[in-house]
Amino acid sequence: MTIGILKEQAPENRVAVLPESAAAFIKLNAQIAVEQGAGNNASTADADYTAAGAKILSRDEILSQSDIVISINGVEEADFGKLKNGAILVGQYLPLYNGAKMKTIAAKGITLFSMDMLPRTTRGQAMDVLSSQANLAGYKAVVLAATHYPKLFPMLMTAAGTITPAKVMIIGAGVAGLQAIATAKRLGAQVEAFDTRPAVKEECQSLGAKFIEVEGAADASKAGGYAVEQSAEFIARQKAKIHEHASKADIIITTAQIPGRKAPLLVEKTTVDAMKPGSVIVDLAASTGGNCELTKDREIVIYNGVKIIGNSNLASDTALDASKLYGKNLVNFLKLIINKEGGINLNWEDDLVKGTCITHGGNVTNEKVAAAN
Ligand code: NAD
Repeated sequence: MTIGILKEQAPENRVAVLPESAAAFIKLNAQIAVEQGAGNNASTADADYTAAGAKILSRDEILSQSDIVISINGVEEADFGKLKNGAILVGQYLPLYNGAKMKTIAAKGITLFSMDMLPRTTRGQAMDVLSSQANLAGYKAVVLAATHYPKLFPMLMTAAGTITPAKVMIIGAGVAGLQAIATAKRLGAQVEAFDTRPAVKEECQSLGAKFIEVEGAADASKAGGYAVEQSAEFIARQKAKIHEHASKADIIITTAQIPGRKAPLLVEKTTVDAMKPGSVIVDLAASTGGNCELTKDREIVIYNGVKIIGNSNLASDTALDASKLYGKNLVNFLKLIINKEGGINLNWEDDLVKGTCITHGGNVTNEKVAAAN
């Protein structure tokens, strides 16, 4: 069986599989074919893949010869016709936002596993690409904010005067938000955090952040680790609380997302009006509409001296480590569908295989995806 690894399209820097994970696949008795130049933007040369036992092929060869095609951002619709009959695609296809594309994929008889739909169970943690990438994005968001902020993060007492510590506010204390708290604390900032899930209060506090509570959030405990939509009344109260704290903050990192929905709007223009010039907002929810009213995805907006950085793909800026973790996640996941002889074995009794599968046998099989589109 051949597993093909595609080169991602610009501006993506990551590659789905580094040579170390290619070697792990070869140990599973699979053959690995890598698109020419796939690792270039992740500091990895074609020669590194061949040294690990992989072949280097063109994009069309990968598409037409692979039994499993692995990517991060998915195969383009224009390439579906080039795939081998019965091909399996594995990547992040965001099926809750791309219903029409899922129907096209199903109609072509392609089996699609979308890693962003992996059930968030304890057994799933080693395969959870959303978590591995969000963790790095949370780190990078703080480092990026520190680069754009015209002052320092830590308190400094010098002979020339005292520098006060930066005040950082994190909105959404999931995987990215918790790493952002930890990173901002390591840099010496004072950190406050907001989340709708009361369960994260202790985690925020144990990382040294002050948790700002807004009463009356909808219960997300049965949403399998994901957030749920809040009432308009709750969001209005939350916005007022965020407004109050934002005027004192130097940095705001926003990460609040609800799978399959537009991101909640939590930082209004009037809140940005109340912020000090030189402040920085990094909005990791930019690709789904942004948590800040002024966010533009993949752009830096400067408004009254406040920089608003919209970027939901900061993991791409740590391409080597991000690719390493993504590849390991995929090795762990594909072990569930590759048998000892290096063949494919789709076990629908396995909740992780079933939950991550979006299309199979000509149909959209995933219930959440079918219901959302
Ligand atoms: P996410 O990226 O979907 O959302 C980020 C955060 O935004 C979440 O913490 C969410 O509660 C928060 N949020 C949503 N609406 C908000 C609002 N109006 N105001 C403030 N915050 C809001 O979430 P994520 O980081 O991918 O994961 C969320 C949680 O899922 C994690 O903290 C973890 O507990 C759990 N999880 C479990 C597993 C597992 O068990 N395998 C894996 C990953 C995550």
